Amino acid sequence: MATVRLENIKRRFNNVTAIEDVTFHIPDGEFWVLVGPSGCGKSTILRTIAGLEMATSGKLYIGEKLVNNIPARQRDVAMVFQNYALYPHMTVAQNIAFGLQMRKVDPNIIQERVMSVARSLSLEHLLERKPKQLSGGQQQRVALGRAIAREPQVFLLDEPLSNLDAQLRDDTRAELKQLHQELGITTIYVTHDQVEAMTLADKIVVLNRGRIQQIGTPNTIYSQPTNRMVATFLGSPSMNTVPAKFTSNGFDVVGQILPCPNSVREKLRPRIGQSFDLGIRPEHISIVESSEREEGEPGELTLEVKVVEPLGRETLLRTGFPGSSAILNVQIGTDILPQRGDRLSLKFNLDKLFVFDSATGDKLYP
Ligand code: ATP
Repeated sequence: MATVRLENIKRRFNNVTAIEDVTFHIPDGEFWVLVGPSGCGKSTILRTIAGLEMATSGKLYIGEKLVNNIPARQRDVAMVFQNYALYPHMTVAQNIAFGLQMRKVDPNIIQERVMSVARSLSLEHLLERKPKQLSGGQQQRVALGRAIAREPQVFLLDEPLSNLDAQLRDDTRAELKQLHQELGITTIYVTHDQVEAMTLADKIVVLNRGRIQQIGTPNTIYSQPTNRMVATFLGSPSMNTVPAKFTSNGFDVVGQILPCPNSVREKLRPRIGQSFDLGIRPEHISIVESSEREEGEPGELTLEVKVVEPLGRETLLRTGFPGSSAILNVQIGTDILPQRGDRLSLKFNLDKLFVFDSATGDKLYP
């Protein structure tokens, strides 16, 4: 096990800067997840740590050791890719044992490790099979098992579950978490999947265009995003953002007025007349039932239901402003089921409102 420290790491490919000034320090034994849109540099960071890419500049430490010039095979890291490659002519047991044999580990220890890894990944009954006799999910677990058996200082996992079907993905995700809790090996994990990021990570690193946007616990990233990109990236459905003009009465949202908390008013007072992006998560908007309300009460906006998506435990509504293409996702319970075309009064939890600079996406409030 080891810490992993990146200091101002940059990687350029000719005229493309894949990662720029990436700095973070992963404490020993933690599980960190790198997320961000396609092409933001996640895999490049992982490959640089593995030694499969060389940093253009910056310093990379595994433990106390500066490893910039240490070749991949001497870094004591194990990497599992989305497109893992098992040796087709070897059995599952031989595949898992391979890395240990290459390192000339005692055969008794190899046998023990193979059995223990097979047990924890439910592969015991498959040990004598060849890869082509396995399902995709089983093959992926063998690839994970091969990495785990080596007991490296650091695990690097690049979308290791993305080839699995939904059920297997959920199961393997939980197994991975349990394995990490048992083994405590420092792990860096790249994914597009929000649920994986939220459920597995001690810390999430959100990247965009090669730069770190925010590092934090899943809860911090979700509830205190530093900018519009982070706010809208994590969460499914994601945070709504709608353009709104700040007026002396509050925000003008497509012709309807949303009053704003005093703290927002104070903060934006010098900017009356300017437009901002308001951010609100779908679970922070609720329907005001007609019996409860006076028509047009402050804090409510009237929207029209465009699409209703019942999800079993909850219902997702896509609602639109009359005369505008802006869409607002609303997450509600299952006790009422609005219909397409209904006009709803929606109440915003103003304590959960975000204000972003429309041009830069910087968070202005809270
Ligand atoms: P994805 O989620 O799609 O896998 P990613 O976040 O992992 O993307 P990277 O694969 O790290 O992104 O790529 C970051 C940027 O660097 C992209 O613009 C990519 O096109 C570029 N890039 C990566 N490898 C090379 C290379 N060998 N030569 C040139 N450009 C590259």
